[in-house]
Amino acid sequence: MTGLTLDRVTKVFDDDGGDVVAVDDVTIDIEDGEFLVLVGPSGCGKSTTLRMIAGLESVTRGEIRLGDEVVNRKPPKDRDIAMVFQSYALYPHMTVRGNMRFGLEESTDMSDDEIERKVTETAEMLGISDLLDRKPGELSGGQRQRVALGRAIVRDPEVFLMDEPLSNLDAKLRAEMRTELLRLQEDLGVTTVYVTHDQTEAMTMGDRIAILNGGKLMQVATPLEAYHRPANRFVAGFLGEPSMNFFEMEVRGDRLVGASERTAEPSGGSSPEDGDEFVYPVSAETREAIGDASAVTLGVRPEDVELVRTADGPHDFETVVDVVEPTGNENNVYLAFSSESERTFVATISGMRSVEAGQPAIARIPESAIHLFDADTGEALRNRSLDDLEETEPRV
Ligand code: ADP
Ligand code: MG
Repeated sequence: MTGLTLDRVTKVFDDDGGDVVAVDDVTIDIEDGEFLVLVGPSGCGKSTTLRMIAGLESVTRGEIRLGDEVVNRKPPKDRDIAMVFQSYALYPHMTVRGNMRFGLEESTDMSDDEIERKVTETAEMLGISDLLDRKPGELSGGQRQRVALGRAIVRDPEVFLMDEPLSNLDAKLRAEMRTELLRLQEDLGVTTVYVTHDQTEAMTMGDRIAILNGGKLMQVATPLEAYHRPANRFVAGFLGEPSMNFFEMEVRGDRLVGASERTAEPSGGSSPEDGDEFVYPVSAETREAIGDASAVTLGVRPEDVELVRTADGPHDFETVVDVVEPTGNENNVYLAFSSESERTFVATISGMRSVEAGQPAIARIPESAIHLFDADTGEALRNRSLDDLEETEPRV
């Protein structure tokens, strides 16, 4: 078993004379047996990174190492890596058995019997034994996905690479396959790099997640670290549904001041007028974290905004409910600072609490829950406190 290292890896495509930097100086150490998820919006360089690891794309700068060995110049077939694509890439004229045997026949000197035993064993593990004589055209999407996985597993590789392998499945099957894939990877203990644009998949599957944006690595962390302690505003906004609320604020002494609304008739001037302000006082400790930044982005997650009965502190704000989106277990409540305001922010509350549009509400934004980002660079200046994190002790 082997770990995998990306060391300052860069990929520049020559696109009709213009250079496209698809992957920009990315460094990640992936541990032996780890399940690492590469996640980010479309076009951020996920597939290119995976293809470089597989050897399907050359590396412009930097090194890719499997264990201690630099593999930049090694052809794909010598890398001991198996890749699973979104499109499955099964041979349509071959049976399932043929598809699963093919890679082994090509790349190993196993005997026919050995190959047959491997295929039978893997098919059993994936619950596709009764499909071995069918062709891909006679299978459902979920079954094809399993065959594509099986073809990767029989090869017993050092590393699995998966590029959005569940995207073509419907939501329910996708959720089932997520769990199944994780269990499988854990049993096999094979180092895995899994690409997805779906933040839920990243959060639920990764031992760690690597978040990419515009070819640049934003953060590598466990899902919960990235969620609660984002390195920058991009990560904060990318993870979580509904997204974190952001407010652009000026720093004035120990108060953060932003515009609370955008009224139909702007009163002129660049500074918010009295009464149109969203004023958020901060403690000395928070003030210190802000340093000499003159403008910050205040972030707060929807689940950290509380709806309370009476305003009794500087972090309680009078609002009006604009829209309520019930999801069943929760209500996403969109709030505005006044009924004329178009600017809303969202609070997530229990689905058992009923709230109606037009109703006044008091929103509490606890200081322990806020994130602050430098308005220019987006770097996190302060993340939420995790003091109230609860451990669930197993009973003995
Ligand atoms: P993702 O998988 O995250 O959606 P990709 O790795 O496919 O992103 O692409 C990253 C960037 O590189 C995009 O801007 C894409 O247009 C560009 N790109 C990918 N492949 C090529 C190529 N062969 N030639 C030129 N540009 C490419
Ligand atoms: Mg892609």
